[in-house]
Amino acid sequence: MIIDEEGVIELIKIIGGEEAVKIAHKLLKRPGLTDDEIATMLEMDIKHVRKILHKLHDLSLLTYEMAFDKKNNRRVFKWRLQQEQVIGVIKAQLKKIYNRLQLLREYFNRNQFYWCGNTSCKKYTFDFALDYFFKCPSCGQKLNYYDPAPILSAIDKKIMDIEKMLG
Ligand SMILES: [Zn+2]
Repeated sequence: MIIDEEGVIELIKIIGGEEAVKIAHKLLKRPGLTDDEIATMLEMDIKHVRKILHKLHDLSLLTYEMAFDKKNNRRVFKWRLQQEQVIGVIKAQLKKIYNRLQLLREYFNRNQFYWCGNTSCKKYTFDFALDYFFKCPSCGQKLNYYDPAPILSAIDKKIMDIEKMLG
């Protein structure tokens, strides 16, 4: 799988949000920054920075090494992004999504669907629609046969995208 820096950042965003992205950017540019340095550079609360760093570390996206800060006479953590690990985590996530899409595809292939046409209402299986006498339980309108072709082609497209990414 080819994931460039931009891809890594995109995935860190999914996992850790905007603030994790800011931290990752700094670490990509300057590996080995300490908690304090990151907090100062980003003008963020040090406790908050540490929380994010540890979260990313728990997911094996970051490593640290201990160093001794002679000036302040204390130990510090120097953080580094693990690009290889990021890719591993992402691959595992993509596989999960892939499997879910396959199940969803099967579900839409195996069942017939009925829908009232309101975008805020759900699509129901035949058995369910029959139980409700083909009347939408949310809005009360008639449930008509719904052709799942657009959903299926959207699922297929996503499946193909993921297959490409997984290589
Ligand atoms: Zn409805």
